[in-house]
Amino acid sequence: MFKVYFIKYKFLNISLLTLCFIIVIGFLIPEPVYMPVVGAKAKDWNKDTFWYEPWGKSGVHKGMDIFAKKGTAIVSTTNMIILYKGIKPTAGKHIYALGPKWRIHYYAHLDSFNINTNVIIKAGIKIGTVGNTGNASGKQAHLHYSIMSIIPFFWKADNNTQGFKKAFYLNPIKYLDYSKEHLGQ
Ligand SMILES: [Zn+2]
Repeated sequence: MFKVYFIKYKFLNISLLTLCFIIVIGFLIPEPVYMPVVGAKAKDWNKDTFWYEPWGKSGVHKGMDIFAKKGTAIVSTTNMIILYKGIKPTAGKHIYALGPKWRIHYYAHLDSFNINTNVIIKAGIKIGTVGNTGNASGKQAHLHYSIMSIIPFFWKADNNTQGFKKAFYLNPIKYLDYSKEHLGQ
């Protein structure tokens, strides 16, 4: 009995350590920040767009919309792994990518894809082009961009609409303040 218990304990111990190690690795990966829409400047988005409400079916807008001419290049915001690309009625052509610090970067309403899934890419690599697919159809072309943390930051939750989700969603506008292209505008 003791032996079985010991083995189980040891197994748990190792997996917890491994998990901690994996989590730490995610925080050690460099996170340079690039503007996801090439050439976009602060005038190309509304600074109050994050958590704007009311916002259609989703209630609040959990990202930012960067307006640009259809076909403008979209690049990886930081170093990332392309996890998924697909099409759905709301988001149109969209991409999910995992970046440093266990953050999921989400790109929607793309006109075209320029990247495969399961590839690791550096910041600034072309992944698609700006469009108006999905429920942006008939509207001005833009990139819907949002960032979700897999690790929740509970202290960021508040009493606003769906405020508990702020533990997961980062304000991409603040994030892009660290972008080289954004500085000095
Ligand atoms: Zn949007």
